[in-house]
Amino acid sequence: MEYKTEEPVIGIDLGTTYSCVGLWQQQQNRVEIIANDQGNRTTPSCVAFRGSERLVGESAKHQTAMNPTNTIFAVKRLIGRRFSDVTVQSDLKLWPFKVIAGLGDKPKISVRFKGEDKIFAPEEISSMVLIKMKETAESFAGCTIKNSVVTVPAYFNDAQRQATKDAGRIAGLNIMRILDEPTAAALAYGFGDERNSGMKKKVLVFDLGGGTFDVSLLSIKNDVFEVKATAGDTHIGGEDFDSRMVEHFIAEFKRKHKKDIGANPRALSRLRTACERAKRMLSTTTCTAIQVDCIFEGIDFDSSITRACFEELNLALFRSCLETVKRCLQDAETTKESIDEVVLVGGSTRIPKVQQFLQDYFNGKELCKSINPDEAVAYGATLQAAKLSGQGNKDIQSLVLIDVTPLSLGIETEGDTFTVLIHRNTPIPVKKDKIFTTGVDFQSVVAIKVFEGERARTEDNNLLGQFKLTGILRALRGVPQIKVCFEIDADGILHVTAEDTSTSVKQHMTLINVDRLTTEEIERMIEDAERFKAEDEAHMRKVRARNKLENFAYDLRNAVNEKKVCRSVTSVHRRYIKDAVKLVIKWLKQKELLSEHVYEKKMDELKRDCFPHVATIYQNCRNNLDYTDNLFTRFYMLRIGHVTQNPKIEEYESEMSDLSD
Ligand code: AMP
Repeated sequence: MEYKTEEPVIGIDLGTTYSCVGLWQQQQNRVEIIANDQGNRTTPSCVAFRGSERLVGESAKHQTAMNPTNTIFAVKRLIGRRFSDVTVQSDLKLWPFKVIAGLGDKPKISVRFKGEDKIFAPEEISSMVLIKMKETAESFAGCTIKNSVVTVPAYFNDAQRQATKDAGRIAGLNIMRILDEPTAAALAYGFGDERNSGMKKKVLVFDLGGGTFDVSLLSIKNDVFEVKATAGDTHIGGEDFDSRMVEHFIAEFKRKHKKDIGANPRALSRLRTACERAKRMLSTTTCTAIQVDCIFEGIDFDSSITRACFEELNLALFRSCLETVKRCLQDAETTKESIDEVVLVGGSTRIPKVQQFLQDYFNGKELCKSINPDEAVAYGATLQAAKLSGQGNKDIQSLVLIDVTPLSLGIETEGDTFTVLIHRNTPIPVKKDKIFTTGVDFQSVVAIKVFEGERARTEDNNLLGQFKLTGILRALRGVPQIKVCFEIDADGILHVTAEDTSTSVKQHMTLINVDRLTTEEIERMIEDAERFKAEDEAHMRKVRARNKLENFAYDLRNAVNEKKVCRSVTSVHRRYIKDAVKLVIKWLKQKELLSEHVYEKKMDELKRDCFPHVATIYQNCRNNLDYTDNLFTRFYMLRIGHVTQNPKIEEYESEMSDLSD
């Protein structure tokens, strides 16, 4: 598909725990990783619902402990999966928020929002994170951004890729390409000085993030990136290391206090946050304290953990990472000795034991970690966005990416047999077809059931979808010629057609995924996302109006408390103002968030009430007041709407006389 555009383009690493966005700077021909409103270059993939407020990113993560059941994280583990999926079921046990089974076994997230139970699809929650990343880039670029490349783990199946694309649509993004995370990371590294040397390089990308683990073997030659093999584990990542530590401390608490904090979502969430912090510390120190005040029934939790203990708890998980590396090498029919570079990606690759295991396995080879492991994927995604949009210089335009399909794809044939049309690790885009026939005499309908997986029997593989081809030639079994064609596009998304070659009856299935959101559902979610955006903006306007009134009231109070305000002469007026301010502050404390004009009206009332008194105080004390930094004067500036740093004395005086009239 053609995506040539002059509009700004971005690359988004939509991570399980953190997300990162890069913007292509066309003028400078380079990638800029964009910091969020808190100044951080990665943003928690976290969404929270608090009262009538929706929070995304840092603000959502920071209030997790107070609001654990309505704070959603790691939604990437749910996207495109079924509720009954074993990994979903095991995750649920450790999550404080509620996931329920929706129609068709789809997982749905249930939260309390605006006083009601509200159900969200994982795609909707992901779209909220995508919107946050899009807005982060927009506020930097100063314009609207639509075009993006979004990354997914290499082992994501068709359903998960489709669902990620749907999340992008809901977020109002034009996803130019879904790119595999390790490929993106290799792109980031491959764009170095060694380009065009003519030498073929074998690069192993080891990506251990918050909730996913990917190993990919790429061959890079003259800017051509070819993914030779991928292997992954959906259940190894920083969150699992956190979980092991959480379990360790739950047991310790039980031993010490005979109480189980495991069933208390708030305690669990606070403990998890403390464990994640401790884990990060242990990457640079050998021992760290872990403290949570009043964790459960008024008991403070106060303990410590050594790096050795942390490593012991996670040893099996670290070892299993190496098993995945071996599997990837086997799939690519290569040896560890032939690997030229080992690239570290993902925050969890900062763990010293992980690095040590990997380095030992590769016979002491230096690991590539010069690009920040949290940013490499977004960096590569942005390069790809630049290429697709035609914006980068000729170096960028010459980049060629060849991806492979992570799982074998095929259909069910007689005896529940899985007949493969496209084998695992086949470069994409790809189109393959095969001729099938009927199993029964005069059969007029055949069911095409599409599966992905590596097992011989379909029941052991993953059903992607099914459809029926009707009106086929009625003939003896074995006579009809049914051509089934599988086509995987550049996003790794499968399109299937079946055709009776003698009658030309044809059925086409683009979205073969049984779990996919319907067009109506997506349309509804797009509308919801727009409504949420409008509601968030309305909420922010209310908050701003409320804060403005509150600040104004406090400024007023502080102004009349200034030492330079001659107290004896002005005491009656000062008292009047202070009482008026007190009433407003009391009113503010009692009220829920109200509409902005209620606050504006209140502010006008306060001004109207107080300004005659302000004017009198001013007239009495003008000789004492310092016009540049005095609080009273600052308040006065506020009144007349001045933003000048050094206001002219005459302006106040004329305003003053207006007030006195
Ligand atoms: P990513 O998904 O790549 O952003 O990785 C996020 C994961 O990396 C989270 O589980 C973090 O706790 C983990 N992480 C980040 N920094 C460190 C560190 N210094 N040591 C250990 N783990 C880390």
